[in-house]
Amino acid sequence: MKKVVLACDLGGTNLRMAAIDRQGEILYRTKRETPKSDRADEIVRTIVEEANECLEAVKGAGKTEAIAAAVPATVNVEKGILMKSPNVPCLDGFRMVAALESELNIKAVIENDANAAAVGENWLGASKGCKNSIMVTLGTGVGGGIIIDEKVLRGIDGTAGEIGHICVEPFGAPCGCGSRGCVEQYSSATAIVRLTREKEPQYPKSELAGKSRLTSKDVYEAGKNGDELALEVFRVMGFYLGISLVDLINILNPEVIVIGGGAAAGWDLFIRHVEDQIRSRAFHEPGIRAKLVRAVLGDDAGILGAARIAFD
Ligand SMILES: [Zn+2]
Repeated sequence: MKKVVLACDLGGTNLRMAAIDRQGEILYRTKRETPKSDRADEIVRTIVEEANECLEAVKGAGKTEAIAAAVPATVNVEKGILMKSPNVPCLDGFRMVAALESELNIKAVIENDANAAAVGENWLGASKGCKNSIMVTLGTGVGGGIIIDEKVLRGIDGTAGEIGHICVEPFGAPCGCGSRGCVEQYSSATAIVRLTREKEPQYPKSELAGKSRLTSKDVYEAGKNGDELALEVFRVMGFYLGISLVDLINILNPEVIVIGGGAAAGWDLFIRHVEDQIRSRAFHEPGIRAKLVRAVLGDDAGILGAARIAFD
């Protein structure tokens, strides 16, 4: 009988669950909205429902040995505790592993979602086979996962890899973390919209001027049409992202940096500016070495990474 694991990706918006085999094939999957609850037990109940649906669907296919959950939080992996979960605050301090093990009667493990995505891309995606890789996710915020010598870099408290909070502008925009000028404030999807609004008065002829419900995708579409405002926003976005990657390159000497998340869609418009910063600022050898590549697994990076962690 083949071995199967359950992999869960608990996002601020969606909860994805899948039964996955040793080769990374997704045998069955579910997706629903993350419950808007302020109670951890309700979130666990939803995870258990989805897990049971997957178990039922694959019960003939193999033996399910474990569940791994990627969570939007800093995590104490050894104790199985979510420490700080800014987008789902009711999970702060929650003993998720103990709860899942008692409900499902299989071994459970949790991992930070950005780390899980990095593991997923490293297993089956853009950094496959690389021993030293970094994943940067440009979404609502900027997430990061760092794999050095085939291991996720965690630090003593499990908080390592917060790439989004590399400071790129000491007196820059205030950040949710309490600091200022973090790269998240310049290179996330949220930041692309804010930068567009800030620069709009200088570009009255832009097709984006005065547009309501602006998204980073709108800015990208405008940029593809040559809109000067959009091109300037992506220049700034790439400039700051490049500065943050220079720090990572000089300190960690990665083989590959994988860039994913919704705002990575603007790749054609920002990557040149990222490369300019690396060329002009990074140490020569690691700067040449580090390949910049787009993530390939999309929304599946988290569950595939979680599955790999469950097998390990
Ligand atoms: Zn910050």
